[in-house]
Amino acid sequence: MTLDSASRLAEIRNGIAEACKVARRKAEDVTLIAVTKGRSADQIEPLLKAGQRDFGESRVQEARAKWHALRLRYPDVLLHMIGQLQSNKADEAVALFDVIHSLDRPSLLAALVKAGEKAGRFPPVYVQVNIGAEDQKGGVAVAELGPFLDEVCASPLPLAGLMCIPPDEQQPDPYFALLAELARRHDVTGLSMGMSSDYKVAVSLGATAVRVGSALFEA
Ligand SMILES: *Cc1c(COP(=O)(O)O)cnc(C)c1O
Repeated sequence: MTLDSASRLAEIRNGIAEACKVARRKAEDVTLIAVTKGRSADQIEPLLKAGQRDFGESRVQEARAKWHALRLRYPDVLLHMIGQLQSNKADEAVALFDVIHSLDRPSLLAALVKAGEKAGRFPPVYVQVNIGAEDQKGGVAVAELGPFLDEVCASPLPLAGLMCIPPDEQQPDPYFALLAELARRHDVTGLSMGMSSDYKVAVSLGATAVRVGSALFEA
């Protein structure tokens, strides 16, 4: 039997609730972000009808094109920017997104502050950590995290927490545990970690936001 996306959504919500129970956490302390990059408005609509309101997108232009019309009908949607962000898109990103998960360098921080001052709107930001020290991935190096967090805290952008994408094809547990430990060390509460294949593990290690895409849309 193939499930539709609303049924998959219910399954994932159950999975989060179960992982929370085992970890003695409250399910309402975990936000499920439905990642809809590459999905059409027609694919998104059933999730909106099922009550989903937090959505993640990776590209500014694609998000703006898709969400303009959807937001007129669902004004309480919260859009999360989860992809790498170019500084020259900071104005558009600040106008469009409610939360930014991919703050990964001082130049982007400066661009977002400037954009926020122009727009009179400062979306909360997660600092992305390059948790596996991978050259090809974005994120602040672990060794540079402390000074960078100080910069963010001195800025008008509210710090939502830390975000990571563990290395492919490895057990994610130690990377999630390390991100949680860094958050404790730096007195940060939010943890954006966990995707389709590992959101339950992430919840068991303290995730407060999981970003789930393919598990909502594919068998
Ligand atoms: C695409 C993406 C996700 C969702 O990944 P799935 O494996 O499809 O659940 C989560 N986080 C980021 C940063 C992504 O780019």
